[in-house]
Amino acid sequence: MNEQVLSKRLQRVGANVPKDAHLADIGSDHAYLPTYLMLKGKIKFAVAGEVVQGPYESALKQVAKNQLSNKIIVRLANGLAAIQPEDQISAITIAGMGGSLIRQILTEGLANGQLRKEEKLILQPNVGEMTLRQWLVLEGYEISHEEILEENQKIYEIIVAKPNQPKVYTEQELFFGPCLLKERNEIFLKKWGRELKNKKRVLDQLLKAQKTPNEKINEVKKQLQWIEEVLT
Ligand code: SAM
Repeated sequence: MNEQVLSKRLQRVGANVPKDAHLADIGSDHAYLPTYLMLKGKIKFAVAGEVVQGPYESALKQVAKNQLSNKIIVRLANGLAAIQPEDQISAITIAGMGGSLIRQILTEGLANGQLRKEEKLILQPNVGEMTLRQWLVLEGYEISHEEILEENQKIYEIIVAKPNQPKVYTEQELFFGPCLLKERNEIFLKKWGRELKNKKRVLDQLLKAQKTPNEKINEVKKQLQWIEEVLT
């Protein structure tokens, strides 16, 4: 992968960034995504935010190498602290992290006024999709689009959320993803086939372990039943 040829995963994240966006890419190791989108003429301005020195320096180098330092600002910052009001950010991408970390970044950004709830969110959690969807719904976002894809034997989900469109979702929709559940494509069925095996193993372990709270066992049993239903 480089700034000219993205991984399939990042390419699909980028495909959901609106044309002419002012983009904040948070966790922008190498700044691949904003550089690629800028070179393609898809975005007008970008902030590449990184919290770790090494990846921050790689991002700086990447942007300078492509002579884009006036259009992509690389900032060493924790989460949405990379965003400044004059950036007029219209879309935020956060990819390749756990759902809980993405949720925490959004929560802190909201508390600190860096997330204005006007930006389109394009999120690609590696795990913990449900907790992220729960946060989005709690904060009045609509899950407007989702994708599921496989690359190098790993399955990834992309969640796109539109602000100020409060919607009610069932527990199952938040678990599987409302759009993905509706579509139930081949990769979705493959993911949940794998998860069924994992959850059965987890349930066995919980039942064998002493002192597992009943609520925990019931929660896993409930999810197992949902997965079985979705696969039939
Ligand atoms: N977004 C790229 C992608 O999807 O390929 C990079 C993913 S990489 C696994 C995660 C990056 O996020 C790392 O470079 C890490 O340093 C950065 N990161 C983790 N927590 C962060 C935070 N709170 N704020 C900014 N960057 C963060």
